[in-house]
Amino acid sequence: MTTATAEKPVSEAHVFEADVARLLHMMVHSVYSDKDVFLRELISNAADACEKLRYEAIATPSLLGDDPDARILLKLDGDNRRIVIEDNGIGMSRDEMIEALGTIARSGTRAFMERIEANKAGEGAQLIGQFGVGFYSCFMVADQVEVASRRAGEEAAWLWSSDGKGSYSVSPLEASEAPTRGTRITLHLNEDAKTYVSRWTVERIVKQQSGHVPVPIRIVEKEG
Ligand code: ADP
Ligand code: MG
Repeated sequence: MTTATAEKPVSEAHVFEADVARLLHMMVHSVYSDKDVFLRELISNAADACEKLRYEAIATPSLLGDDPDARILLKLDGDNRRIVIEDNGIGMSRDEMIEALGTIARSGTRAFMERIEANKAGEGAQLIGQFGVGFYSCFMVADQVEVASRRAGEEAAWLWSSDGKGSYSVSPLEASEAPTRGTRITLHLNEDAKTYVSRWTVERIVKQQSGHVPVPIRIVEKEG
């Protein structure tokens, strides 16, 4: 499965855990669910990452480097129909990425899957909105997702990439292409989701759903 060599590590292909593949399939095919939740979920993860860094930095202050203030940045790129969610939190190592973005660890997702299994009437769409179901909800709006991350205190940076159709790849990232610390998630929005490059739409959702987030959120539009 791996194609990495000692001299020149290249992209490795991984298959999603069966539960994840099922969850993703459900997400992509639920036409009526409230897709706005993806933004709440990604912002909540970004804020969690900042909080984890703050906690680890109590014992290891050097992790903060010269960038001590937590921040979340949303970049809207209408020309390329992309939205980028960036944080300067704890980031993820390669192994953490594979664990966190390829399996289902969290209890909320398990509970969600059980509700869906038990439900014969097919209210899956509403349940997605209700539960959010974390990171994977971004595949409701994106047909390609890239996660670039560098864990605090580590030199290596990694790129996780997937179209949500059963597999993902992980590859090393050039220093110049990676965040100095933390995580940058790029969503290549599908045709139905182009409203999420609109500042007005994104501001509305952030105000409605992420008002309580204790990290400042800045929204910028990519010019030209
Ligand atoms: P939860 O937030 O409930 O754990 P998610 O599906 O939202 O579930 O996220 C899964 C995991 O992916 C997180 O627990 C975290 O380990 C990792 N993760 C997601 N986004 C980020 C991020 N921006 N920075 C660091 N880790 C992240
Ligand atoms: Mg989450």
